[in-house]
Amino acid sequence: MTGPRLAVVVPVYRNAGTLEPLAARLAAALAGRNWRLRFVVDASPDDSARVASELARGDARIAATILPQNVGQHRALHAGLAAEPAADAWICLDADLQDPPEAVPVLVDRLAAGDVEAVFAGRRGAYTSPLRRVTGGLHRRVATRLTGLPPDAGAFLAMGPRVRDAVLAERAPSIVLAVGVAGRPVTSLPVVRERRDSGDSAWTSRARLVQSARSLGWALRHRRS
Ligand code: UDP
Ligand code: MG
Repeated sequence: MTGPRLAVVVPVYRNAGTLEPLAARLAAALAGRNWRLRFVVDASPDDSARVASELARGDARIAATILPQNVGQHRALHAGLAAEPAADAWICLDADLQDPPEAVPVLVDRLAAGDVEAVFAGRRGAYTSPLRRVTGGLHRRVATRLTGLPPDAGAFLAMGPRVRDAVLAERAPSIVLAVGVAGRPVTSLPVVRERRDSGDSAWTSRARLVQSARSLGWALRHRRS
């Protein structure tokens, strides 16, 4: 096993059906590399905790954190990043296979070039409804104005140690905006997202609006002047 130690952190809520194919696709994509995968099961009401624990039992590279209470995607990511101290690069990835695991080595290799400290998988494709793509785009435009983040940045990214430290030092409502406020050099690469095969987004429209307002408000208060 050569190269940087990679820690992939995956927040899980109602994704029992995709965890196994996710682990298999990730293992194939990262074959020959030094990697770990940590599922953070966010008090999911389905079978996710059992499936994640079974995958962890069957493979020493896989770990599962089972949260007793639902804390939401971003606090689950925070917990997972904190639980993986021994790595050189950390990757945040959704559990529902909308974020293709095959893009992880591309992000990691770009990070290894050394001129940036985080690489976002820039959102592309018709991965959600047209309305959600428009409102998501508006949110990201404001985030870009506030922090200088790439306008296609979302919660699929690879980060180096200084960015992870900055994220862990904050209790930010959004991992993405915490990276933006950290003020380190970052970039994005286009990555086409997949449509959800089954089920709905865990985010209701109301929850998205509240999350957007809270996280942009947080960035406004914390941005560097
Ligand atoms: N998620 C979580 N806790 C929650 C809601 C969502 O950990 O309370 C996870 C979910 O399992 C997924 C990610 O956050 O890995 C993004 O959620 P989802 O794919 O439903 O949202 P989308 O971005 O596709 O609308
Ligand atoms: Mg999704």
